[in-house]
Amino acid sequence: MLNVLLLGPQGAGKGTQGKLISGENGIPHIATGDILRAAMAAGTELGRKVKPIYDAGGLVPDDIMIELIRERLCADDAANGFVLDGFPRTAVQAEALDEMLDEIGRPLSVVLEFQLPEEVSIERLTLRAQEEGRADDTPESIRNRLRLYHEQTEPLIEHYRARGNLVGVPANRPIEEVFEEIQRALEQVAVRR
Ligand code: AMP
Repeated sequence: MLNVLLLGPQGAGKGTQGKLISGENGIPHIATGDILRAAMAAGTELGRKVKPIYDAGGLVPDDIMIELIRERLCADDAANGFVLDGFPRTAVQAEALDEMLDEIGRPLSVVLEFQLPEEVSIERLTLRAQEEGRADDTPESIRNRLRLYHEQTEPLIEHYRARGNLVGVPANRPIEEVFEEIQRALEQVAVRR
């Protein structure tokens, strides 16, 4: 079982690396942003509810996100592990995740902390806005999301460091280099298990 959590600012490449880790290790990439975008595209009740928050770069309420993740982690395809990306983003979400994983007896194998200077993060998000046209890649929304990241999500790094399974990943490098380093870290985890 390989339970991986990705932490780090927007634009650090968590989505890209999450997909690669998923493919290489045969575990699903569970990205809360992707789940919300799919719900909005499908026009579900969840999608309609979160759209204004999402577009403004705000945080969807904890209770909604926690329920969504609880269901997703219990799906069959996550039985052998998962790569969790975009959750938790707040202390409340982190506590809920700890409890959930405790309950189902599936501790995190490793927490990968993607490290990227803020100016590179802004550059990458601005570029992505031009290339992909994501609804929340407007300048105001980008500022809001990075502010919320610093205020609410960055403190979680210490939460996981204190638990001893945090691995730092310098993310300002080519995709393949970052991925090789991640795979080495995951092999270390496998050796320790
Ligand atoms: P992402 O693709 O991870 O950057 O997520 C895009 C947007 O989805 C965020 O800016 C939030 O509006 C929302 N979102 C995704 N995950 C969460 C979460 N764990 N808690 C609150 N909002 C979230």
